[in-house]
Amino acid sequence: MNVFICGLDDTRADRGDCPNPLHDHPLAASPMVARDEADERLDTGWTQARCPDCGLFGWIAPGEEGKQ
Ligand SMILES: [Zn+2]
Repeated sequence: MNVFICGLDDTRADRGDCPNPLHDHPLAASPMVARDEADERLDTGWTQARCPDCGLFGWIAPGEEGKQ
């Protein structure tokens, strides 16, 4: 699957006013921390998906597939 680590601005989902549950798991505000967090999530079965409502990428925790 495609992963968008190099586009940290995309992966650091800033939910804004979007109510989509994809944004329930934002990364840390610090890009350094967010990168580690993203690596850790990808290692532990998290996936990323583009929000159908706002177009930003959000995270899907293991076991939460299909909630978007
Ligand atoms: Zn959204």
